[in-house]
Formats: sequence, structure tokens, C-alpha cells
Amino acid sequence: MNTVTKRAYVLLGLIIAFMAGLVLLGVSFFMNGGTWATDSHNGHLYSNGQITNAGKILDRNGVVLAESKNGKRIYNSNKTVRISTLHAVGDTYGYIAHGAHTLCRDKLTGYSFVNGIYDLINTGEGSDVKLTIDADVCAAAYSALNGRKGTVGVYNYKTGEIICMVSSGSYDPQNKPKDIETNPKYEAVYMNRLLTGLYTPGSTFKTVTAVCAIENIPDIFNRTFECKGSLKTAQGGEVICNSTHGKLDFNTALTKSCNCVFAELGIELGTKKIEQTAKDLGFGKRFDVSGVKTQASRIDLSEAVEIDLGWASIGQYTTLANPLHMMMLAGSIANGGATAAPYFVQEALSGVASSIKTNTFVQQATADTLKNMMRSNVANSYGDNKFPGMDFGGKTGTAEVADGDPHAWFIGFSTKSSFPYAIVVVVENGGSGSGVAIPVASKVMKAIQN
Ligand SMILES: [Zn+2]
Repeated sequence: MNTVTKRAYVLLGLIIAFMAGLVLLGVSFFMNGGTWATDSHNGHLYSNGQITNAGKILDRNGVVLAESKNGKRIYNSNKTVRISTLHAVGDTYGYIAHGAHTLCRDKLTGYSFVNGIYDLINTGEGSDVKLTIDADVCAAAYSALNGRKGTVGVYNYKTGEIICMVSSGSYDPQNKPKDIETNPKYEAVYMNRLLTGLYTPGSTFKTVTAVCAIENIPDIFNRTFECKGSLKTAQGGEVICNSTHGKLDFNTALTKSCNCVFAELGIELGTKKIEQTAKDLGFGKRFDVSGVKTQASRIDLSEAVEIDLGWASIGQYTTLANPLHMMMLAGSIANGGATAAPYFVQEALSGVASSIKTNTFVQQATADTLKNMMRSNVANSYGDNKFPGMDFGGKTGTAEVADGDPHAWFIGFSTKSSFPYAIVVVVENGGSGSGVAIPVASKVMKAIQN
């Protein structure tokens, strides 16, 4: 090979390396451009590590939840609105990972791949972001929790819009408490309990056992059960009921939330069927909510003996449920077995395609049967006066936990197609589902109605 040819090859090699470098830079810039331009060292957008100049964050009715004025980020003038919408809106430092301030940072700061932060530099502000939540409903939910930790979620099961997303403990972002890192009142305060919380589900899980029984036991509605106040299992151990219910059928067993009947059914159905139904109904799945991956509900009966299965069938044992997932389960039961995927950011995030996704949890016939049973729970036990004119259905839960009073749960829905909302309420260590969670749900649903 002569020298000229060798040089030509070396040159070609250098050109290829140079081009590869350019491609790599381009890809890296495309992947990270948004992060670099909105990095907290950029003084146009941030002051002392805080986001300052950015577009407004609005609720579904155009109420301003956060905006920039004179280089400062300010929140809604109503303290309860500020506290109750904190986890949806987020904070300017980014401690709250799943709020709009963090999720929609590129849009709020006007970042675009082509122009960089062009919009913000030219006009002084980025784009506004509209959320699906209703500030008044969130405030009503936070007030109803009355300082207790927990969560309230409400969404439209036909469209997926989340109307209410409240996580408590919370704090006022306008006056961040000095003792936030040390006071137990603020334990896990940055976490959005609706999206990423996990709790023992208690009797709300009886909806899962009910689905499994409806689909696998052909004569389930013709059977008669007997509750003697506790159920002793063949291999030892017993499940205690909340009362001594005597003779009852399947419908009444759900209305009275009889532990004996549901433990007995779970043991008859077996670990494989209960676990499979739970998985069909969304256990083990993470859902995407405006770009946030929810915490997956957990069930594992691989090591469960008979008595464990009895407890698991009434929502105890090692089973844990995510509140948003349980809200979707309620919505799917109300909506013929399938539900629109919940979301809380109204406009599409930049670069993320927005499409209404549907999650199918259960066959329509099963959903409709369970819907009627849950409707009967409210009409015949909890009281229609709690949800006037809403034709409400639901299931309470009083979930026993190792530390402190039970978690109070309620999942429910309106069966009216003109009012297609489903709700989840969890009050941590709150006590009984009917005594504590239902009054919260009642106040929130009435706030939506008004
Ligand atoms: Zn009973």
C-alpha cells in the first residue's frame, strides 16, 4: 500500500470518528437538552436553587395554583388550597417528585429543543399548565381529613380526569415549616400517598374475593352461609369476624362485611385462583398517571397456608394495596369492567404522547353483578343520605395493622352516567371504615356535586 492510500485511510478514519462524535453529541443533547437548559445553575429560571420564572399552574376551572410575579414563585391565596393541592402542584425545589413543577418543568419554563429557553428569555415566562384537579374539592377533602394522615382521590371513570388528589401530611409551600425534617407530623410529607402509598387493604379486598367467587362458583348466589363469630380452619387457626352474623347469603355477607364467609370462600377457591383474580384486577401492576409510575399493589400467596389464605381473602396477611389502584378498581366495577386511565395534567407533556388508555379489569357481567352488590351496601347499610341523589355504591375497609389503630378505607362510585366519579379514601390509623372513611367520602362527593 503506498503512502497516499494510507493517508487517505487515516483521513477517512478521522472523518468517521468526527461524524460519530457529532451524532453522539446530538443524541446526548436531544436526550438531556431539557435537563441542561433548566439545570438549577441557570439564573434565568432559578434563584438559590428554586424555580422562579415560569408559567402558571392552573386547576380545571382556571384557578391559579402557582405563578411567577416579580421573580418570585407564589401560590394560591387560600392556605387550605395551597396545602391540599401541594402534591399535584409540587414545590419549586423539586422535593415533591410527582408534582407539576417537576413533571412539567420543560413546559413551565418554556424550554423547547429547537429554541432552548427561547420563550422564557423573550417573553419572561414559559407556558401555563392546566391540571384536571378542582381546587375547591381538594380543599374540602383536606379539611375532611382534619389533620389525619392519609389520602383522598376522585376521578371520572369515563374520561380518566382526576378531580381530587390529596395527600396528607402536607404543608404550606408559601411558609414551609422549619421543623419539616424532624417533626413526625411531616413523616413522608413529600410522598404522594395516592400514587405511591401502599396500605393493608382490609375489607376493600373483599371486592377481589367476590369477583373470584362470582366467576368460579356457579351457585354462589344460591348458597347459604353461617357465621358463628369466628371461622376455625381445618389445619388450625381461626379468623375472627366483626360480629356473629348467623345465617346469611352472599349479598348480605358483603353488605355486613362478614369475615367468616369471605375467609371460607377464599379457602375454597384456593391460593392460585385468588392470586390470579387479584392480578387480573391490577395487583402487581404499575399504572402511568401523567408520567408518574404508581406503586404496584402486592399480593403473594406462594407461602400461604390455609389460615393465611383465610386472612388474605379479607385483605389482611401480607397483601398491600395502592390507593389509586383501588380507586381504578372501583371505577372499573362502575363502568362495565373497564376504566379510562387516570391522569391529572390536562395538556400533553412536551415530547410525551397523550392518549386515553383503557384498563380492563373484569368481565362486564361480573362487574355489573358486583356493582349492584356494592350499590346495595350503600342503600341498605351505609346510607344513601351520605351520598344524596348519587345512586352510590361502595365498600368499606377497617384494615388491622401492627402499629396502632386500623387504617380506615372506603372505595366507591356513583352509578349515574351523568355523574361518573369513583373515590378512594384512606385514613391512616383512623379507625373504622364506616365510622371514619365514609364521612370523609360523603363530604368530598357533596363538594363535587355542588
Ligand atoms: Zn360474620
